[in-house]
Amino acid sequence: MVAKQVFTFWFVTGSQHLYGNDALQKVKDHSEIIVQEMNQTGNMPYEIIFKEVATNSDDILTLMQTANLDDTCAGIITWMHTFSPAKIWIAGLKSLQKPLLHLHTQFNRDIPWNNIDMDFMNLNQSAHGDREFGFMATRLNVKRKVIAGHWSDPKVTTKVKDWMKTAIAFVSGSQINVARFGDNMRNVAVTDGDKIEAQIKFGWTVDYYGIGDLVEVIKQIPETEVDALYREYETLYELPVEATEPGEVRESIQEQARIELGLKHFLTTHGYTAFTTNFEDLHGMKQLPGLAAQRLMAEGYGFAGEGDWRTAALLRMMKIMSDNQDTSFMEDYTYHLEPGNEMILGSHMLEVCPTIAKNKPKIVVHPLSIGDKADPARLVFDSKEGDAITVSLVEMGGRYRMVINEVEAVAALEETPHLPVAKVLWKPAPSFQEATEAWIYAGGAHHTVFSYQLTATQLYDFAQMTDIECIVIDQDTRLSQLRNELQLSNKIW
Ligand code: MN
Repeated sequence: MVAKQVFTFWFVTGSQHLYGNDALQKVKDHSEIIVQEMNQTGNMPYEIIFKEVATNSDDILTLMQTANLDDTCAGIITWMHTFSPAKIWIAGLKSLQKPLLHLHTQFNRDIPWNNIDMDFMNLNQSAHGDREFGFMATRLNVKRKVIAGHWSDPKVTTKVKDWMKTAIAFVSGSQINVARFGDNMRNVAVTDGDKIEAQIKFGWTVDYYGIGDLVEVIKQIPETEVDALYREYETLYELPVEATEPGEVRESIQEQARIELGLKHFLTTHGYTAFTTNFEDLHGMKQLPGLAAQRLMAEGYGFAGEGDWRTAALLRMMKIMSDNQDTSFMEDYTYHLEPGNEMILGSHMLEVCPTIAKNKPKIVVHPLSIGDKADPARLVFDSKEGDAITVSLVEMGGRYRMVINEVEAVAALEETPHLPVAKVLWKPAPSFQEATEAWIYAGGAHHTVFSYQLTATQLYDFAQMTDIECIVIDQDTRLSQLRNELQLSNKIW
């Protein structure tokens, strides 16, 4: 597995000295209760740490600068319990480089109708305190998330959790390092791009290696390790009957084990968390990595085929965001165009991640039909059913556009006994026609990342954090509006 880092989020409550020390003590007590309750009953994926009641500009600036330098801090959560004059937030907000969540909540849930007096009002005034803060964040054009509602409401805590996962993926940008084995597939447009811009915008590093660098490492893998990994395959997957005897089929699977070990050794030695391959560029390799790429994706590595390093990095980012659950490299492959029951069959030549499998994957050895290498072993399975998203990240010449489609993954109508690849079938929202027309107008690619675990909102928030354009195609999409939006976007961006 790719190693996981431990992160925390810092909770900062805004107030001022106008109300006296007793009131400030209450502000602190309330903040501590909220943080403790959110951590425990809210079941947060990362710990929230209460930092301080902020009442002056110098303290806020120091806190924000400390957060910037602290590798364990993945974001700041602010709440204006009482009125906090927002001029004291200017210096701090201008310096903050970590994700910001403005939690617009109130300590008390209900108005105590019979007892309410001015003391109560003064201790429950985020309704105007948070508006003062919100004005300043908007005036400064600070990228942030606003979540409103009582802090005990599961709808609120779920939104906070989702945002935390996006923040983690954002602050982990500099840990996303892609090794490209070979270049992009010749003549293909959408997989090409500006690697410097990817590092400036997202922190992603993208490096080239000749395939020979990898072949050398694969050659050094001891046979004992290949045998041990082959035995692991036997416990995890259904193997073809031919593999029970020595021969081509077993050798083909063993070759993928050797490639998997070589790739993993290379990636860990050089500190990469994502990689690409290209079937046009396999000098010295016996097979295109199929099973090997699938197994490494399941361990959390980002991957995409045909040298598509941007989708490989996007997959790694989304694996961080989803904690490596139910998220895979994907390609729009074939359509089912039965009127009223249209759907998309997603797959790839070989490389779909088994974290989206619904059944025990089986290993199949089959010719690739393009290129002239040996028949590669790959995992074949059907994918889960349920709500999912497909995400594409494209370059529009000097800028990025993220395109997201909300979809519903459905069961196949019938068995596909002659299809030697893993697959998923889905129906895109709002309808097949509108969704695919919208996708093509938006310039979305055929390579995507497919996730059952993440929401369009989480990816939209990532686009906000990184200041890139984001087009969401969902139940509410109207094609005429979307086409106008795209035209306006071109002017704005
Ligand atoms: Mn492809």
